Amino acid sequence: MSYGELVARAKAQIREVSTADLAARLGDLPVILDVREPDEVRRGTLPGAVLLPLGQVDSAVSGAVPDKNTEVVVICSAGDRSALGALAMQRMGYADVASMAGGFGLWRMQGHPWEVPVVDDRRIRYARHLVLPGVGEAGQRRLGDARVAVLGAGGLGSPVALYLAAAGVGTIGIVDDDTVDLSNLQRQILHDTPSIGFAKVDSAAKTLARLNPDVEVIGHPTRLVAANALEILDGYDVVVDGTDNFPTRYLVNDASLHLRVPVVHGSIFRWEGQVTVFDPYRGPCYRCLFPEPPPPEFAPNCAEAGVLGVLPGVIGSIQATEALKLVLGVGESLAGRLLTYDALAEELTTLRIDRDSSCPACADEKHPPVLVDYDDACRYAGAVARRR
Ligand SMILES: [Zn+2]
Repeated sequence: MSYGELVARAKAQIREVSTADLAARLGDLPVILDVREPDEVRRGTLPGAVLLPLGQVDSAVSGAVPDKNTEVVVICSAGDRSALGALAMQRMGYADVASMAGGFGLWRMQGHPWEVPVVDDRRIRYARHLVLPGVGEAGQRRLGDARVAVLGAGGLGSPVALYLAAAGVGTIGIVDDDTVDLSNLQRQILHDTPSIGFAKVDSAAKTLARLNPDVEVIGHPTRLVAANALEILDGYDVVVDGTDNFPTRYLVNDASLHLRVPVVHGSIFRWEGQVTVFDPYRGPCYRCLFPEPPPPEFAPNCAEAGVLGVLPGVIGSIQATEALKLVLGVGESLAGRLLTYDALAEELTTLRIDRDSSCPACADEKHPPVLVDYDDACRYAGAVARRR
């Protein structure tokens, strides 16, 4: 059935009131329920109208209008959606529901009183989340309360931080000790040409504030080392690792076992990328897969190996997805699975990965590993304290 047929059928089953009838009763009126989207309502509605988008009528109207015997007039822009809303409420047992024919467009044209309502901007900003099963009001609050650390404001960290900020993650920590270089801009979309030479954490904070001023960005303009890792990462709910070097990956892994915070791991190499989630003691950790750093000749970094500029966009976006799922507590995370992406073949593959019961880092839950610093070539560079 077409939308037009649905509306026509709804109108045949409900009562409609005219704008003139409603205007005559405006002071002594029942509930007026405006079912338009927040971005429409913010331009004006009837005085005192209750605001609830049509998509939320089923789930939320009993909160907005608790008494099913209340007289309700539903309005929208032209009188079509309001007919659908009225029919939905009628089916839910509302005894006295009508739809205003002609809608707010006609109402305003005829010179009846209207007002610009106070609409919480966040209702508009997150409108597509608020109607999304799995997010909704409660999920959006969880995102607002969440603290996510993003390690590296580079190729992977860029899409991660941008999407987390856009989604309304309340606190985003950015750990990076680097400055913006011209050669970064081929892929690091947090930064732009005028930010060349500035600290990446400052450039990132500026970009994210422009995108979503509700988000608090905490800059950590430092390199993560054994001596500061626990202090910096403490208090975050999720860590997203977008660093391109092995020493940091091992350090982040070992710190996450102390703090019991999940790490969304991502890596890119030429035309390929990988994502997984290391969920401490519930799934494998990084050392379950790679107990010790590789010899330097097998560990080229991004600068040496080259990377397709858009590749971190793909991998970082998947990391952001995983981080949001972890915060929301929905879906299946990539814990125990390694997702690999091959851009040349345009193929995604998921491999199962298991926790190693003899893992040097996570086998013994009571004794998380001593944090160590490796040098850039991944040679052991001295421990904060010796391993047992
Ligand atoms: Zn492990």
